[in-house]
Amino acid sequence: MIVTILGSGTSVPQRARSAPGSLVRVGKRCLLVDAGTGVIWNLLRFAGIGLDRLGGVLLTHLHIDHCADLAPMLFALRSVELPRSAPLLVAGPEGTENYYKSLHGLYGRWVEPADYELSVKDLRGEVLRWEGFEIRSARTEHSLENIAYRITDEESGRNCLFTGDGQPTESLIAMAGGEVDILIAECAVPPEDTEMGHMNPAQAGALASDCGARLLVLNHLNPGCQREAVASEAARYFSGKILVAEDGMSVSLESVESGG
Ligand SMILES: [Zn+2]
Ligand SMILES: [Zn+2]
Repeated sequence: MIVTILGSGTSVPQRARSAPGSLVRVGKRCLLVDAGTGVIWNLLRFAGIGLDRLGGVLLTHLHIDHCADLAPMLFALRSVELPRSAPLLVAGPEGTENYYKSLHGLYGRWVEPADYELSVKDLRGEVLRWEGFEIRSARTEHSLENIAYRITDEESGRNCLFTGDGQPTESLIAMAGGEVDILIAECAVPPEDTEMGHMNPAQAGALASDCGARLLVLNHLNPGCQREAVASEAARYFSGKILVAEDGMSVSLESVESGG
């Protein structure tokens, strides 16, 4: 299982950090987690994956910086340049089906699937199976309904957990089950601050310990979050390996185990 960070930033434009989005890959199977502005270009740029090869899109929530590329993605998939016949999953928290309906109200047939089946789902805690992945979700505390995802490769048992935005809940810790290979945690708040509905590095580090994570990736960084400062603060609360996300960075458990 390889996780590629396509956008390590937030809604605030930064020179080196795009809006949120990550790719989870096992062989040729792949899922996108969040589709922030520019993510569909970064998918090709950083992972070499065209939209015709994408298995599904999991939205953590419907803040604009996490879902703005859904409409351009669906529009692009109508192009003869991107022939697609495999079904495409678009799943997210409650409101996702309505979000697609609203896009359809605005753009009509331009966001309809051409030759593939589009499956849009609101998730309410059920376990989804898609393309050989088991997908579980749990709510976090954010200013808008946000769900964290635990994505497990059914073949190898390897998993990753994305917090999306927000602070942890008991249901998130329960979903982690004390065994998370790769934790991609939001860390929008600098070390010395706290903010309702987001995590600082101390909180992200503590979450990694609570989840039994083997690798913590600090992600969703605002301009005030300096690399060394967030990493060293998180390390006070988590003794495992910590990486600070960068656009284009790919991580796997194997690379951690080999020290790469
Ligand atoms: Zn966000
Ligand atoms: Zn948000």
